[in-house]
Amino acid sequence: MHVITDERCLNYSQEFHPERPQRVAGTLKLLREQTELKITWDKPAKVTDALITRAHEKSHVRLVAQPQGPFDGDTPNYPDIDAHARRSIGGALRALELAQAGKPNFSLLRPPGHHATRERAMGFCFFNSIAIAALHARANDTKKVAVFDFDVHHGNGTEDILHRAEGTAFISIHQHPAYPGTGQKSFDNCHNFTVAPDSPNTTWRATATKALATLKEFDPDLICVSAGFDAYKRDPLCQQKLEIEDYTWIAQQLRALKKPQANILEGGYSTDLPKLVLAYLKGLA
Ligand SMILES: [Zn+2]
Repeated sequence: MHVITDERCLNYSQEFHPERPQRVAGTLKLLREQTELKITWDKPAKVTDALITRAHEKSHVRLVAQPQGPFDGDTPNYPDIDAHARRSIGGALRALELAQAGKPNFSLLRPPGHHATRERAMGFCFFNSIAIAALHARANDTKKVAVFDFDVHHGNGTEDILHRAEGTAFISIHQHPAYPGTGQKSFDNCHNFTVAPDSPNTTWRATATKALATLKEFDPDLICVSAGFDAYKRDPLCQQKLEIEDYTWIAQQLRALKKPQANILEGGYSTDLPKLVLAYLKGLA
């Protein structure tokens, strides 16, 4: 298992913000201590403006480089956030390279990206790493790219960027109602599967099974996975009931499709996040 990280991603924080350094620090600690899974550590790939502007407006790229204050109530103007967000993109690009080389992978970096739209940072996200990776693959002769997003929140930013992008499909399973309120319906190449708050994990699995069937039917040459771990029963931000084992299950379902697969950390805010990531990696391995 290749895990991509860069410990500089621990160097930004705001008091009481759920998207905090311990998410990655704790996961790094567990992954280094555990002995069940052999891990090869990798670094993020290089990122250029040309890669970013496939997904984002130039004005947005400039704003992240020189913020004019907080992006929204959830998305502060952290010092050096441009460099942090670019390393998260680099993690997604490295995951893509590993996927194409047939190597199981996971990008363990922050900030997350799936709420960042073409022209806006929001919901803890600045650049949309997964959409950038998907469009990069498309630009380099991958015919069909799917983004599969199992974060508990709808990946509105990824949908915004990939909507009607040729050769792509966006498939998301998320809670509704919940932040950011989008993703109630499917349209064009965007396929949204919702679960109500307080659904049992069996309902989540049944809904995920439908989402996986849509993914299989699209028959992608590459799957980019927005792996968020906030549908977990003890996550503070939403009201789903997933158990640790459900993350091994979803990983196994994805692996069973036998497609190159790039995996990127999105959300996940419970103190059990390290165990959830390990459970997912075991399912991929
Ligand atoms: Zn989330």
